[in-house]
Amino acid sequence: MLDYRTWHQKTDIATLTQAVWLCLLFCVALLPTSLTFAGDIRDLRVWRSPDYTRVVIDVDSHVEYSVFVLENPHRVVIDVSDSRMFADIAELDLADSPVKSVRSAARNQSDTRIVLDMDGAVNPSSFTLPPSEEFGDRLVVDLYDLGTEPPARPAEMTPTSPAGRQTIASASQRNIVVAIDAGHGGDDPGAIGYDGRIREKDVALAISRAVYERLRNIPGYEPVMIRQGDYYVRLQQRPQLARQNRADIFLSIHADSFSTSRAEGVTVYALSQTIAEDENIRRVAEKENSADLLGGVSGDTSLKNFEDDLALTLLDLSMTWSIEQSVAAGSYILNSMGTVARLRRDVPQQGNLWVLRSPDIPSLLIETGYLSNPTEAKRLNSADYQRRLADAIVQGVMNYFYERPPEGTLVAWQKANNQGPDRQYVVQRGDSLSLIAQRHNVNMSQLRAANSLRGDIVQLGQTLTIPGGGPVPVVSAPPTVSEHTISRGETLSGIAQQYRVSLSRLREANDLRNDTIRIGQVLLIPAY
Ligand SMILES: [Zn+2]
Repeated sequence: MLDYRTWHQKTDIATLTQAVWLCLLFCVALLPTSLTFAGDIRDLRVWRSPDYTRVVIDVDSHVEYSVFVLENPHRVVIDVSDSRMFADIAELDLADSPVKSVRSAARNQSDTRIVLDMDGAVNPSSFTLPPSEEFGDRLVVDLYDLGTEPPARPAEMTPTSPAGRQTIASASQRNIVVAIDAGHGGDDPGAIGYDGRIREKDVALAISRAVYERLRNIPGYEPVMIRQGDYYVRLQQRPQLARQNRADIFLSIHADSFSTSRAEGVTVYALSQTIAEDENIRRVAEKENSADLLGGVSGDTSLKNFEDDLALTLLDLSMTWSIEQSVAAGSYILNSMGTVARLRRDVPQQGNLWVLRSPDIPSLLIETGYLSNPTEAKRLNSADYQRRLADAIVQGVMNYFYERPPEGTLVAWQKANNQGPDRQYVVQRGDSLSLIAQRHNVNMSQLRAANSLRGDIVQLGQTLTIPGGGPVPVVSAPPTVSEHTISRGETLSGIAQQYRVSLSRLREANDLRNDTIRIGQVLLIPAY
């Protein structure tokens, strides 16, 4: 869309021909009847976070604006220059927010005044955002609750303490804190599904909640949610919240999308060493203002207590340790996730990702699958699959920490005393009770007793308790795709049955339109 400023730029170009000049003049003469204001307001959205309310205003282009507060009664006034209101502000969902109502009026012939009627006083903080893939220009006004300062402090986390089965040990042994970061949120939907409806922020939050629910019932673990609802938390703030909660590991949960619908599977990322080195140099340069801690190396020591070269050495040591641990934890998680999902890469990838830049906390970003792939998107959007993925992530986390328990934790004590925690296991295709017992290093009668089973029959999808007492098993390598060469007399449905995969999955893996197959044809057998 051409706006007023675009026309002015055009008139600066001296090489335009006389004809174009005439045309331009003609058009400009017509402008008043079809005038477009620079910052016309297209939409207005309100999101509530634990300690602030975010108001996002979609505008047609970068805008001049001012924000101020009025008292008696409390109001926040947003004046947007050169704009008209096209947003439907009558139908806004203001539930749970301190905004009681939103009004707007034209002002000075060219400006728009937006008035937010508030329940109480707030501290506004505002900024503009350039267009992104998802949205155009935006004006963002964050209304901080009184008593909180921008940037917001973390919400008080009150994780339920795990069942007191190991009271003797847990009195003196601390829990392992797992920070679960559901990616995106609020006005940032993340990736959008193939159908335009499934959103990454919702899938990420659902899986994160399932991870939280699973972990809070496991003795020795204390999960913490970085975001607990549909609101945005700044990228820089996410690792900070993890640190404030003294997290032992930081897991950022996401879902991917790609330009083709075929991409599928799980990818796990850790920070790369080169990026880490650049980041350390930056941190040292900024250390006077930095609240960075070196928890992994020297307790809660602020960087500013050190000379530059020593600070850099400490950071490098800490970051190297943290990346090494991240990659190890990522391998355990991938191993475990491979039992329920296809893996796009079966080793952790290393890259430049903001949320992973903690020098002192092993940090991973888990892309749980592709929303651009209809089959995978539907699966990711189902509560059952979300729970199975979450269980697998938790199993991977437990396997990692059982291998490398932080000192002073209940898990370290359990390992030293050969007392693994009870674990949950979801029965997979092809499992039998004896196979499960064997794989988890428990005997059949223990397993039957722990699950009140009379016989040996287990159902697909049934959750079994694996009794503690032995070491946590290392999950076997994920099943890989195999091939099958068709012999005389075979049918597609027979082959599907033979490999315990669904007919539709088999068709999809081989790009088959129908069930016709030829002798000698080689079929790919999907892993699940
Ligand atoms: Zn994401």
